[in-house]
Amino acid sequence: MSFEPFALHARVLSGVRAIGYTDPTPIQTQAIPHVMAGRDVLGLAQTGTGKTAAFALPILDRLVRDPKRGVTRALVVAPTRELAEQIHQAFGELGQATGIKSATVYGGVGMNPQIQALNRGVDVVVACPGRLLDLLSQGHGDLSRVEVLVLDEADHMFDMGFLPDVRRILRQLPRGRQSLLFSATMPEAIRHLVDETLTDPVTVAVDRGAPAETVAHALYPVEAHLKTDLLRELLRRWDARRVLVFTRTKHRAKRLAEKLDGGGLFVSSIQGNLSQRRRQEALDGFRRGDVHVLVATDIAARGIDVAEVSHVVNYDVPDTEEGYTHRIGRTGRARHEGDAVTFVTRDDADMVRRIEKVLGERIARERLEGFDYDVPLPARLDADERRFQRGGIAGGGQRGGARGGQPRPPVGGGRAPARASAGDARPAGPGGGRPSGGSRPSGGASHPRPQVVAPTPQHAGGGAGEAGAGDRSRRRRRGRRSGGAGARD
Ligand code: AMP
Repeated sequence: MSFEPFALHARVLSGVRAIGYTDPTPIQTQAIPHVMAGRDVLGLAQTGTGKTAAFALPILDRLVRDPKRGVTRALVVAPTRELAEQIHQAFGELGQATGIKSATVYGGVGMNPQIQALNRGVDVVVACPGRLLDLLSQGHGDLSRVEVLVLDEADHMFDMGFLPDVRRILRQLPRGRQSLLFSATMPEAIRHLVDETLTDPVTVAVDRGAPAETVAHALYPVEAHLKTDLLRELLRRWDARRVLVFTRTKHRAKRLAEKLDGGGLFVSSIQGNLSQRRRQEALDGFRRGDVHVLVATDIAARGIDVAEVSHVVNYDVPDTEEGYTHRIGRTGRARHEGDAVTFVTRDDADMVRRIEKVLGERIARERLEGFDYDVPLPARLDADERRFQRGGIAGGGQRGGARGGQPRPPVGGGRAPARASAGDARPAGPGGGRPSGGSRPSGGASHPRPQVVAPTPQHAGGGAGEAGAGDRSRRRRRGRRSGGAGARD
């Protein structure tokens, strides 16, 4: 099926063509007709399903058919600034021939451009709740003529404690508006929000709770102290250009990026304390392919939309099974194939069972041919690694890796990687930190670890240095009201 049957305005269709979409995704097929008919819609869909265009196209269609100047007519509320930026970009690209303008409102950046956009009555406001409420309470903007409200990733907003702010914003919207709510999961709090916000909604659901069919899953049983070497060797063999690696804590993300960076491999990290500009630079570098490997915590990675992430590596297992679905929702997006690789120690057996339950199948256990799994635990570990291996909190983490001591044989066996279906789910609990500085070229990892395989130079040059540079001078705590992801992660 093409986009023609939706009877979108010609200028909206031209945006669809310009962006290169030929066929609608299932959530678009299901939702667009109802949204265009003016119905309230509850979309049970995860990031990666194409839900943004599912609401952006009908909104653009409505606005372009009946142009009004200087009036904010659509409000999209999103939990993180990355997601807000992506939505804003989608409106820009899909609406490029419409003249419809959108603007973002989120914390961690200057207020003035946002104030101007609100006061000018920009057509579409894409906002994180905290900053929007701040600016509204200062008397900026007017939401009394909003025709369409979108609450995107509502379950994440709940997780991040934004629902009270969302409710305050809702009070400023007219009653007769159309409301759309998207959520990957339906906790009780979201059911209540749905009841309060939507009128006689149509429910559309896509691949709820299951990751993308285009993702191949594999587990790599490994001792905790060999994870870095195993990852280095996998990266060498894959020769991959866009690998997203998850660690449980922000400190581990930073340290790992420092250890991996070099030898022609450009590695950056996003976690706490990074300015929005630095964070965006790291993400842009990753998108462009200048940064080959991005190491992130769950929270810092929210909203990352890089269509061609080839591999997601769970260096540490997530804290929840939903966290797994969320992480691997970063690969295999929009019909691209991707691999989800998870390093598991014996201590992770329970989480592996829970993840397999969600996937509905056993995940293949892989053993990397030629990799030395018998290298003993080094006599000296750096302080962070020691804490983590003892099961303590390193940089804010909650669960321990493998306990120190004698290496134990990894659990083996295996079959071809399973394929199952995409998504996003609730974030994996604590362990994040606010997004922060990328790695600097490592040069001197203090950790005396056995060198199993040296990375082969892949290519030289590129902007990882800049993307990866930390930003200590800007490091400061921002209150929750500074908004968006920065406030909570
Ligand atoms: P979303 O779930 O909205 O974050 O979209 C996930 C990815 O799918 C984004 O990179 C979109 O640009 C892409 N996408 C959305 N709709 C389509 C489509 N109909 N065809 C191809 N790619 C799409």
